[in-house]
Amino acid sequence: MSFIDLNLNSSLIANVTALGYKNPTPIQAQAIPAIISGNDVLGIARTGSGKTASFALPVLNQLLNLATAVRTRQPKVLVLVPTRELAVQVADVFKELSHNIPHPIKSMAVYGGVAINPQMKAIYGVDILIATPGRLLDLQRSNAVDLSKVKTLVLDEADKMLNMGFQDEMNEIVKLLPKKRQSILFSATLSEQLSGINKVLLSDPVVIQIAEQVADVELINLSGYFVSDDRKGPLLRHLIREQGMKQVLVFTSSGNKAEKVAGKLYKNGIDALSIHGKKSQSARTNALRRFKSGDLQVLVATDLISRGIDINELPYVINYELPRSPKDFVHRVGRTGRAESKGMAITFVTRDETHHFKVILKKMKRYIDMVDSDTLDL
Ligand code: AMP
Repeated sequence: MSFIDLNLNSSLIANVTALGYKNPTPIQAQAIPAIISGNDVLGIARTGSGKTASFALPVLNQLLNLATAVRTRQPKVLVLVPTRELAVQVADVFKELSHNIPHPIKSMAVYGGVAINPQMKAIYGVDILIATPGRLLDLQRSNAVDLSKVKTLVLDEADKMLNMGFQDEMNEIVKLLPKKRQSILFSATLSEQLSGINKVLLSDPVVIQIAEQVADVELINLSGYFVSDDRKGPLLRHLIREQGMKQVLVFTSSGNKAEKVAGKLYKNGIDALSIHGKKSQSARTNALRRFKSGDLQVLVATDLISRGIDINELPYVINYELPRSPKDFVHRVGRTGRAESKGMAITFVTRDETHHFKVILKKMKRYIDMVDSDTLDL
């Protein structure tokens, strides 16, 4: 199947081609026709499957078929997301896909942690609003936005939204929307709690389930080093230099550690920044933008932000510290080896973590020949 078979406006096809997408991914091939025909959709797919374009393309296509809108504070499409990073990322996809379309469609991300006033002003005339729940409610309460004309609701990463405790906000937001609308819900997993929500939100949805992420992990080249804590820094610098890594995402288990690791790399002449919960929103956005564009060599991050970070064809992930759960491990290494390009995930393991790492690998049905870093001249 090609994008041409999906009955999309030719300007949208030109934009996906310009982005280098050759064919629709499985979620796109199934979700785009279902959304265009006006169905509710329940998509079980994770970041990396191409899920964002699977709703962005049909949503833009539908808006292109409407007459040019009068500028109001009434968005027609609302995309709810759990995190600020995802809000920025989804808005970027909408912008990339809306170049040179027959009439302009304005999309915008709103999220907390930054001043509200500029958002209040900029929201005027927005067709597609991408929002985190708390900030959206603040904007609505101050009459900066009216949700009564929303035709399409998208809940992205709904499972994460529930895990982060946004259930009450979600309910409150849904009450502000017209009853008659199209609803689209994406989630990486289908939990019982989520099933409850689906039943309330979706009416007779087309259900699309994309294969489990473990299958994708098979594409990733995994390797591991036994290393003591005090030699992790030198080993990291050695690997970055020796393998000529130009874009590498490093994971630590705390924000403090992320800060320290990035600082040490920077002192040693390797361009690195950290990104974690305690950083200001603008610093986080800026680091992520620079990293995604290939301008920043190393990004050091915590698990909190690993979910939802989308970096296309990321060549290297390094686990500087092991995550506690196998699930987090999969999420971390899942940042690489995507869209059918092989990635490399390297894990640092201290001797007393050997058993824990074996458990993780067993869950992934993988085996690694570990390298002993004592044999390396660091
Ligand atoms: P997502 O699951 O939406 O986070 O997308 C994952 C990555 O896949 C993004 O970086 C997209 O640019 C890329 N992508 C989305 N659709 C396609 C496609 N049809 N072909 C190749 N890459 C794609």
